[in-house]
Amino acid sequence: MVTNRELIDAALESLHPLRRDDGVKFGNVSAAVASSNERIYRGVNLFTPAGAAQICAEKMAFGAMATAGEYVAAKVVAVWRPRGGDDAHVVPPCGWCREFISQLAPTGHETMVVLGEQECVPVSQLLPRNLWPGPLVSAGR
Ligand SMILES: [Zn+2]
Repeated sequence: MVTNRELIDAALESLHPLRRDDGVKFGNVSAAVASSNERIYRGVNLFTPAGAAQICAEKMAFGAMATAGEYVAAKVVAVWRPRGGDDAHVVPPCGWCREFISQLAPTGHETMVVLGEQECVPVSQLLPRNLWPGPLVSAGR
């Protein structure tokens, strides 16, 4: 099984931040996904000044996995490097990515999210109470 450290290192390899004066940010967040076949796929964020026209690193990494013909992820991590900094941080997925990851496969809610070298939780723990509880009235009403 791909370790948290191996996945973090894979994400760090793709961390090449570019920030333009117009607000465009490329690659200051990098993600790595370990597929169920233990292959690693990577992606970086592409952020634009208009928020709706941007994409997170996690989605790019999952896209790379699907492009290679794999559709089941086992584990994902994202790392972020602050502007002008040399250090990097593991960051949890944003709310949209949590939902995206959980819906990708029938078992997507079991995808493990790396939160540090020693911490990894299923994405379902990052989306508490996300399942519909059921109908308000019975069908016989
Ligand atoms: Zn996201």
